[in-house]
Amino acid sequence: MINDYVLPKTVEDALAALKQGNAKLIAGGTDLMLDLKSCKAAADTLVDINGIKELKGIKESDGNIIIGAGTTHQEVAESFLIQEKAVVLAKASGSVGSLQIRNTATVVGNIVNAQPAADAAVALVALGAEAEIVDKEGTIYQPVENLYAGLAKCKVDSSCQIITAVRFPALFSNQGSAYVRLAKRGALALPMLCVAVAASLKDGKIEWVRIVMAPVSTKPLRALEAEELLKDKEPSEEVILEASKKAAAMADPRDSKLRGSRAYRSSVLVNLVKRGITEAIKNARQ
Ligand SMILES: Cc1cc2nc3c(=O)[nH]c(=O)nc-3n(C[C@H](O)[C@H](O)[C@H](O)COP(=O)(O)OP(=O)(O)OC[C@H]3O[C@@H](n4cnc5c(N)ncnc54)[C@H](O)[C@@H]3O)c2cc1C
Repeated sequence: MINDYVLPKTVEDALAALKQGNAKLIAGGTDLMLDLKSCKAAADTLVDINGIKELKGIKESDGNIIIGAGTTHQEVAESFLIQEKAVVLAKASGSVGSLQIRNTATVVGNIVNAQPAADAAVALVALGAEAEIVDKEGTIYQPVENLYAGLAKCKVDSSCQIITAVRFPALFSNQGSAYVRLAKRGALALPMLCVAVAASLKDGKIEWVRIVMAPVSTKPLRALEAEELLKDKEPSEEVILEASKKAAAMADPRDSKLRGSRAYRSSVLVNLVKRGITEAIKNARQ
């Protein structure tokens, strides 16, 4: 049962409040409130980060885009900076749930909830994002990709640690990104499949590419072999198809009554990856 609800004004005060009883952080509450109700999570004190001004907003600094932990999916989806320099994230956040959910739910909460198909988290892995994690020992930075401790388990302990922001390099004009999502029509839920891609071109060849697929593993899955195959190649249709097949072969989707059969999802994944790579490269050329 919740006995106390604390609204700190600073990160320091939030850390101090977390020391009380069985306390947990809350941002939008769109995951946590359901988890508390179904007893998947327990807390007697909630520490709400929405009163902490320094955690709000999106900015660009020294070539990095920094998104504060109090920033909602809708703010990210509507941000011109994100649309211009990380469109994969604008699209991913823009596809979360409904407008009501997007106006409340945060991008950082999406990471901590650690669902493999969490839209924004998948896009952040493609962007090579890092989380800024603060606790009583100080501040550390960890790649979002490394924060998964198993299905729906995050290495960040929100009873004593706070992700204050996520940051990633803004994409240059020779770089592009794309987000492709397969979902049930009209469903306000996690996707059946999604693919996030970021790519960089140099002298007409692929300098680097990050391809992330979900939910096909316990965490957003990087298609490392496909990424390697594309490196230093001209992005022809043939090579993109070969890489897409390689990527899809790494995936291990489960049979799911909610998200479709393994056979169906395996068969459409090649095309989703192909579309993601093609669109990211087109975006890099524009
Ligand atoms: C109807 C509905 C539809 C949805 N549809 C989608 C969808 O299509 N795609 C999708 O990806 N998700 C979807 N979601 C899930 C959800 O909205 C997202 O995961 C959301 O981004 C979580 O953010 P939040 O701010 O609400 O987190 P909260 O619920 O406040 O917190 C979630 C977890 O993160 C911890 N936490 C929050 N902030 C921090 C922080 N700064 N530092 C450390 N720990 C923190 C909390 O303690 C808690 O454990 C949906 C949810 C609902 C209810």
